[in-house]
Amino acid sequence: MADKFDVIVIGAGPGGYVAAIRAAQLGLKTACVEKWVGKEGNVVHGGTCLNVGCIPSKALLEASHKFVEAKHDFDELGIQAPDVSMDVTKMMSHKDKIVKNLTGGISGLFKANGVTSIEGAGKVASGKQVEVTGHDGKTTMYDADNIIIAAGSVPIEIPPTPLVEGMVVDSTGALEFQETPKRLGVIGAGIIGLELGSVWNRLGSEVTMLEAMDDFLPMVDASIAKETQKILKKQGLDIKLNARVTSSEVKGDEVVVKYTDANGEQETTFDKLIVCVGRRPYTKGVIADGVSIELDERGFIFVDDQCRTNLPGVYAVGDCVRGPMLAHKASEEGIMVADIIAGHKAEMNYDTIPNVVYTFPEVAWVGITEQEAKAKGIDVKVGAFPFAASGRAMANNATEGTAKVIADAETDRILGMHIVGQHAGEMIAQGVIAMEFGSSAEDLALTCYAHPTMSEAVHEAALAVDGHAIHMANRKKRK
Ligand code: FAD
Ligand code: AMP
Repeated sequence: MADKFDVIVIGAGPGGYVAAIRAAQLGLKTACVEKWVGKEGNVVHGGTCLNVGCIPSKALLEASHKFVEAKHDFDELGIQAPDVSMDVTKMMSHKDKIVKNLTGGISGLFKANGVTSIEGAGKVASGKQVEVTGHDGKTTMYDADNIIIAAGSVPIEIPPTPLVEGMVVDSTGALEFQETPKRLGVIGAGIIGLELGSVWNRLGSEVTMLEAMDDFLPMVDASIAKETQKILKKQGLDIKLNARVTSSEVKGDEVVVKYTDANGEQETTFDKLIVCVGRRPYTKGVIADGVSIELDERGFIFVDDQCRTNLPGVYAVGDCVRGPMLAHKASEEGIMVADIIAGHKAEMNYDTIPNVVYTFPEVAWVGITEQEAKAKGIDVKVGAFPFAASGRAMANNATEGTAKVIADAETDRILGMHIVGQHAGEMIAQGVIAMEFGSSAEDLALTCYAHPTMSEAVHEAALAVDGHAIHMANRKKRK
């Protein structure tokens, strides 16, 4: 029998590593088990987010955006850069360097905070025991008063489109292309599909996105989603809605894809295909046979609002439990659970979790849409401001997009904010903070914003809620 801990965390993604650091900071003897083997053959921390998710995708999005700017937009600003080209291999090593720095950084934070790092696959052997199988196959049993499962998620594979190394890939494979495919297919126009499609579109691929649903970004307010679709189309993303992929077959160095749309069965050919049809909770091998931790009907570990499983002392956080599959949601849950274990009161507000699509411009939102409000019978008033009327957006050469504030018609309380625009992912924090503090649209309207900033569009949208926008003609009459 090895050491005994107050807390053992299984998984060192943003749910697990944050929980472990917080628990250790609160004086709990904490260990974190991780099995992910990185490119250099050693165990790495950071999970999906740092290794194959948020960070590497943003490194490629930033590089490819800069490339587009240099190639197409600099001229208008008077910058002559006639021979701009992209070295994909160099872009990839830049991305790999960031991943290495960050994953190594988590290992450093574990040491600094006194978290014991255990390498291997962890399994809940009982409500108070974790069995770890090392990469040499040796098993060790650890005792723990509390266990936090943070095992994350993996890409969904669908039978019609089996993965074929280097040709038909999931999001992880799409972060590793060593050259720009000429014709690229993307199945699924969700957040990850749009981001990866954008990267390769910017670098010169002809990108076709096949999306089974009729609606584009249905979780985003409809007017903002519509505007986004138009902008992305203009950039060259061919987004086909109502197109359900039924098969893919690698023939030589091509991938033949069949799909059905309103006109029946269609066939198209790509050089590479990315399958981005969502992610599923990863619970394989995490719970020993005979340990009765309940899963829900979709395979997520069943938890209450405070991430408690049905087994006392065992918690689960992040992508392996209900709720949006987002790194910051996982981290917040990790912090909440560590606080609860340490005896503090803690809860999470699931109504104010922001979402961002890191396309250009970015799409970001928090809270409800106008359509949801209507469906729920909530009477709302709405203010919207186009970046085309923003001085800073003009100076930035980034005038596409709109900021929209949705407020309760009676109380003026902000219920949602939806933005498509440059830096929308940064601006949305204002909506999150406003909603956390129960602010009204008037509170934002009465706030002094620095000029010139992109955020002034949020200010104007808040003013527009009551027809008081300054820098555009108001549709509503002033009160
Ligand atoms: P994970 O990050 O998946 O970590 C789980 C960890 O547990 C892994 O390291 C795994 O190896 C380990 N593990 C599993 N089982 C065991 C076991 N038995 N023993 C030991 N270790 C185990 N989210 C955002 O918020 N913003 C973004 O911009 C964003 N972009 C993304 C882009 C892509 C391409 C992808 C794929 C995802 C993106 N996400 C983004 C989602 C984000 O990565 C996840 O929501 C987040 O990583 C979930 O954190 P987690 O800790 O729950 O799980
Ligand atoms: P997300 O869950 O946000 O990552 O998005 C995944 C997207 O893939 C969803 O919008 C699904 O509708 C879409 N999708 C799933 N299966 C298929 C399929 N066979 N063909 C086309 N799109 C699909």
